Amino acid sequence: MGIWDSLAPLHCVICREASESVLCPSCRRRLDALFDPRAFRCSGGNGYADSMFALFHYGDSLPRDLVLDLKSTGYRDSLELFYGYMERVVACDDFPREIDLVTFCPRTVFARSARGFDQSEKLAREAARAVNRPFAVLLSRSGYARTQHKLSGARREENVKGTFFGEQKLMGENILLVDDVVTTGATASEAARVLKGMGAMRVFVLCLAHD
Ligand SMILES: [Zn+2]
Repeated sequence: MGIWDSLAPLHCVICREASESVLCPSCRRRLDALFDPRAFRCSGGNGYADSMFALFHYGDSLPRDLVLDLKSTGYRDSLELFYGYMERVVACDDFPREIDLVTFCPRTVFARSARGFDQSEKLAREAARAVNRPFAVLLSRSGYARTQHKLSGARREENVKGTFFGEQKLMGENILLVDDVVTTGATASEAARVLKGMGAMRVFVLCLAHD
């Protein structure tokens, strides 16, 4: 728990109307309407990831703005909000039951130190609570990754190669890998590749928003 966890905004982060929560009741209803626990998934997997589940479509501006806000503020309130949606996704029949550990796709050390926290770590702790499995820090991210959205798919893969590493030895565990946003899937796939190199059996991805 950091200092930000205790702070609540006095306005809705979307419409800026006075609100006791990060979302006013009307924006909350709009977000609810965009959520479909079965809508965004790639059960065939994505690269080294065995399957992928997303809470929202990144193309929808409301969840996108909420994720961006979480990235800069880390509000406890936003985490609780996403936790509620996570609970509904993990309750679906096709969500993997064989998870042993929950971890996250870390930001670069530079990005983390700029904010003092990593929103994906916070989200992974919520996901661990939702699936009732232990949370573990398994990956570190070195160096400098250029801003991904400016690069094409092939360049993105090249860009993330070698940026993740992990020291721990895994013994065939199935991992739930949490990330905030998955666009092409290149970053999540690279993190999954490194986890499998460490000894993970399967890697399932859960993200807030997917393109
Ligand atoms: Zn609002």
